Amino acid sequence: MPRSADYQRELADKSKRVESLLEGLVSSVEPIIGSDNPYHYRNKVHAAVGVSKGRVIAGTYEPGTHRIIEGGGSELENEAASAVIKDIVAIANKYHMSVYNEKTGQGLLRRILIRTADGTGQMLVVLVLGDYMFPGKKNFIKTLISKHPGITSIVININKRTDSMILGDKSETVYGPGYITDTLLGKKFSISAESFYQINRIQAEKLYSKAIEYASLNRTDRVLDAYCGTGTIGICMSDHCGSVTGVELNAKAVSDAGHNIRKNNASNVKVVKADATEYMNDNASEGKFDVVVLDPPREGTTPEFIKACAKISPSRIVYVSCNPETLARDLKLFDGEGYKAVKACPVDMFSGTEHVEVVSLLQHMIFV
Ligand code: SAH
Repeated sequence: MPRSADYQRELADKSKRVESLLEGLVSSVEPIIGSDNPYHYRNKVHAAVGVSKGRVIAGTYEPGTHRIIEGGGSELENEAASAVIKDIVAIANKYHMSVYNEKTGQGLLRRILIRTADGTGQMLVVLVLGDYMFPGKKNFIKTLISKHPGITSIVININKRTDSMILGDKSETVYGPGYITDTLLGKKFSISAESFYQINRIQAEKLYSKAIEYASLNRTDRVLDAYCGTGTIGICMSDHCGSVTGVELNAKAVSDAGHNIRKNNASNVKVVKADATEYMNDNASEGKFDVVVLDPPREGTTPEFIKACAKISPSRIVYVSCNPETLARDLKLFDGEGYKAVKACPVDMFSGTEHVEVVSLLQHMIFV
């Protein structure tokens, strides 16, 4: 499908922004990798549930308020997930289901979270409830599955919290295994209600392929995958290198990474639960890793991480960034440690939003 003029303009704007932020810091910026389908790519869809004029409704909150816009945000969301949300609302209206009231803290149906595995077609539905008592639970599940046979798992999550966290601490799997399995570059990944997972699968494959290309791995390379989440980048690299060590702070992500390693028989990958900067400081001996991949959150990495990374002296560093501002800041610091960004490539992971991802390759000056 040819790209619409609006989407082409969006890509051009994102490219320009990245180029101007990285000006003087990167030798060459490649053309942005756009999406062939800039709509309905979100594989994680969340709707708040409320009541309006006596009817149950679901949608996103109007920014800065708790007023629900019915169906809001759906042009970016997976269409099958949007259809399930609509039907949950229809069932709730038909059976007069109780809806959670934020002011009183009473009531049942609070939020709906749907995750889809676009590589396998599996779908996980998470019903976030304000109460343990769910009258008519069995019939509800039966009706929903009969309408949407694509649903492979249903989880009930109890959330009585007063903050804005989507999920509470208690979950019960009421149908299927409680997670779905997706594929990325031929590897399998489990996704549960809470797991971190890239929300645009097709673009994630392009992003990871670019990171693998930049890493130009050989069979003996020891790779460090810092800020590794559930191990996806490292596992996708594992066939092309000697070993991968992932470092991740979030305990749930570390345990999901362990699960993903076993699922893929990726015996040359291990994941350590640690703060990435502390891990770098503790392992800052020269030659320990040949390639360092880092994919930090929007805040970027730390000056200490960059200093310790230079001490390890990898021949290639692949920086995957979801925020070109902090990337530019960090590239300056890497430059001060002798590492020059030779290439960068923007990847549009989040069409229809202002966000843009950038992969960049850094090499030590003596190799450039
Ligand atoms: N590389 C992964 C995840 C990137 S998101 C992927 O492609 O899916 C960034 C990750 O950094 C998150 O999983 C977050 O939990 C982790 N993180 C945040 N701060 C960290 C820190 N100080 N040390 C290690 N990991 C951290």
